[in-house]
Amino acid sequence: DVEHPLKETVYEELNPLLEAIDHQNKEKDAIANMRKEFSANVSHELKTPLTSISGYAEIIQNGLVRPEDIPEFSGRIYKEAKRLITLVEDIIKLSRLDEEAVDIEKTDVDLYELSREICSRLSQQSAEKQVRLTIKGERVSTYGIRQVLDEMIYNVIENAVKYNVPNGSVDVWVGDTLAGPKVVVSDTGIGIPKEHQERIFERFYRVDKSHSKERGGTGLGLSIVKHGALLHHAKVQVDSEPGKGTKIQIQFPVKSPEGEV
Ligand code: ADP
Repeated sequence: DVEHPLKETVYEELNPLLEAIDHQNKEKDAIANMRKEFSANVSHELKTPLTSISGYAEIIQNGLVRPEDIPEFSGRIYKEAKRLITLVEDIIKLSRLDEEAVDIEKTDVDLYELSREICSRLSQQSAEKQVRLTIKGERVSTYGIRQVLDEMIYNVIENAVKYNVPNGSVDVWVGDTLAGPKVVVSDTGIGIPKEHQERIFERFYRVDKSHSKERGGTGLGLSIVKHGALLHHAKVQVDSEPGKGTKIQIQFPVKSPEGEV
């Protein structure tokens, strides 16, 4: 409006401000939407096993199951209950990662020792799947939260075992690089199609839902990895080829002299 130069100046000054507010609101909306979606997913994921459990229990209670079929029904109840426990545990782990207080728990953690210990915890599971699990490398430490680092590395190695094939292998390498300490997990498993590779870090995202469920997956493992990486200023890289295998690399930053990153 040429007739009101003052008005124009006010607008000029106001516009960037209004745009910034608009941008902030959009970001808030996006966060609110993510929260909503997460809650909806959580309710759905919790309700599914609970509905099965109460359904099976009700049939047994009503005497509708032949005595010889009771072991099978109780087995199903047990399996669903176990699933529920894993799910609740993963949800608790994730919500803990949102708390800033975890920062005070940082100490020096030997990534090689930790990974070796995780491999031995997973040795039975990999033997059952006929997957050869080996670890190589050297001792290297990072400044971090032991429990979170444990969950991150465990999830990546467990996935490499879970999504593998009989007679396949998982190779873990831990060592130092110019960019800092690094953990590399390579598997000869089913691989991840290109179009899914970005999305696997989203909460509850699974390439093949029934496949993941069969293997006791919750779809939360890699979001725990992503959030854990953020807390440690680490970068996670995925290289994968369907039918060939997957390589996940976690690159930690170089330690500064004070031990802080
Ligand atoms: P889940 O509990 O289903 O394993 P994750 O968040 O750990 O959930 O992983 C998300 C999805 O990414 C999995 O459902 C699977 O489809 C895929 N995925 C993860 N790691 C691998 C791997 N090493 N090989 C093939 N697919 C994988």
